[in-house]
Amino acid sequence: MLQVGQTSTLVPARLSQRTKIGQMGNFGYGLAALFVLLLPLVPVPEFVITQMNYIGIDALVVVGLVLLTGVCGLTSFGQAAFVGVGAYATAYVTTALGWSPWIGLGVGLLLTAAIALVLGFVTLRMSGHNLPLATIAWCIALYYVLGNLDALGRYDGLVNVPSVSIAGFSLQSGRHYYYLIWITAGLAAFGSLRLLDSRTGRVLRAMNPDHGGGSTMPEAMGASVFRHKLLAFLIAALLASIAGWLFAHLQRTVNPSPFGIGRSLDYLFMAVLGGVGYVWGAFVGAAFTTILKDVLQDWLPKLFGGSGNYETVVFGILLIAVLKLSPGGLWSLVGSRFATKRTELGPSGNATLQLRIKPQAGDRLLDVVGIHKQFGGLAAVQDISFSVSAGEIVGLIGPNGAGKSTTFNLISGVLALSKGEVRFSGRKIDGVPSRHIARLGLSRTFQHVKLIPEMSVIENVALGCYLRTRSGALAAVMRTDRREERMALAEAEKQLARIGLGDVPFEQAGNLSLGAQRLVEIARALATDPTLLLLDEPAAGLRHAEKVALSNVLARLKQEGLSLLLVEHDMNFVMGLADRIVVMEFGRKLIEGTPAVVQASPIVRAAYLGVEH
Ligand code: ADP
Ligand code: MG
Repeated sequence: MLQVGQTSTLVPARLSQRTKIGQMGNFGYGLAALFVLLLPLVPVPEFVITQMNYIGIDALVVVGLVLLTGVCGLTSFGQAAFVGVGAYATAYVTTALGWSPWIGLGVGLLLTAAIALVLGFVTLRMSGHNLPLATIAWCIALYYVLGNLDALGRYDGLVNVPSVSIAGFSLQSGRHYYYLIWITAGLAAFGSLRLLDSRTGRVLRAMNPDHGGGSTMPEAMGASVFRHKLLAFLIAALLASIAGWLFAHLQRTVNPSPFGIGRSLDYLFMAVLGGVGYVWGAFVGAAFTTILKDVLQDWLPKLFGGSGNYETVVFGILLIAVLKLSPGGLWSLVGSRFATKRTELGPSGNATLQLRIKPQAGDRLLDVVGIHKQFGGLAAVQDISFSVSAGEIVGLIGPNGAGKSTTFNLISGVLALSKGEVRFSGRKIDGVPSRHIARLGLSRTFQHVKLIPEMSVIENVALGCYLRTRSGALAAVMRTDRREERMALAEAEKQLARIGLGDVPFEQAGNLSLGAQRLVEIARALATDPTLLLLDEPAAGLRHAEKVALSNVLARLKQEGLSLLLVEHDMNFVMGLADRIVVMEFGRKLIEGTPAVVQASPIVRAAYLGVEH
């Protein structure tokens, strides 16, 4: 068995193991890249190049939507407005002020960042439909602002926008500009993939309720979900703004019409069609939509006569068909959701994450003093007091509905107390957000397992290393986070070995049995290097063999000196493990004592026999 601070000899071998990128192999990616690179060099008609230029610009916007909507689960109907900000900023700077397009790019990005931060700050804390509604409002409002400002040419817009030059070389020709567009879109895609495969990316991927995520678990691991939402919103807005800049200098004129709400819907359509969870899906969606629209606009009038907007109808039907046949979008047919490779990480060496200074055995860790929780008319927890010292396992047991989980959530900062006090390592922690409690060394698992099913086991566990690592989004994109990332993954590997699951690091977490998933949650909690571990009904729903395995793991953790608060319905499960047991019934403390005392108590037996089914 591995001890904390010791590096597994398995780590370099495991980390160099290649995981499959998806059905589309490297050959496929190479071929696609070659096609894009060589296209302008062969004598294809100018029209094809123009189409490709628009596809590249659209894909840039949609990559942002993939991060925001596909990964984080936040829907924005305002992306076209951010494209508009980027386009108008550079058009104004270059025509009215006569400055360089590069200054226009900078101004556009600054303006976009300011708007996105204000908009995000106001709306991202709200839940449900507020963000989509706010982005709709913002998109419509901006459209009318652009169309009514004299300085921006009202609905006629701004004309004579110059072309972009790089070091004196003009990109006036579509074939030259093509490279600027596609290199930018390619960098955005690779940057996004790098971001997703990092400390920050793991949190972004853990936030989407549609993919088994949410905010409780990342917050319990110490990450601010709000800050990560804001980051995703900002990145998506900035990518849209860059697309607007490229668009303005390609069109050489801007007017409000391409920045309305209808265009925002087009971007969402492209994202969903291509596969909103997939970075490369953005390109497929953009290409498919643009090409199909063109073909349909050519053919439908010939078939049906006249000049109705028939393609809109076809698109509507197509979207429903794709969602029905391939809910993950077109890219889900060829690629996997998060293409995380471990190859470029290299050997982990001996560097390990820092450990926190541990308390001495017997030091008081947790003090729960007279806590109450009122849910409307129901007093779910009433006057509960107990304590946990370092090196001790305390069991909190009681029949279903006794108030154990509520007590647990009051301690871990998920619920607010009605009365009383909770102290951890001498600090008052009631009223403190759970991510700050995690920082103090209190870690937890969940009664209903909260793993990200599509993420690998090792990455799920690495989420626990969040507070022990520092690298941000920029470091992830620049890849200056690799050393730290190696250490985080080595730590995750070590914790997996510690709970006896060292042989499945690259399995998708959702493929494991419930018992194994519970253990992975414990490994994730251990990766935070806790001084106290809170487990909520770890044995619930487990088969007998899984219970035995879990019991062995907990006994081993106890031997290693870890302190545990074990909330459990199953009395027999805690008897062999706990040093002390607190029994609850109807929100009140019934008795506290050693397992022997509790087992012999007639009132405990009555409580269990009376209520248990
Ligand atoms: P246990 O974990 O011991 O089974 P809980 O702490 O989950 O019990 O629940 C204790 C009581 O509080 C139950 O009667 C439950 O229905 C009620 N309860 C729990 N959470 C809430 C809530 N968020 N709102 C209202 N009542 C709740
Ligand atoms: Mg419970």
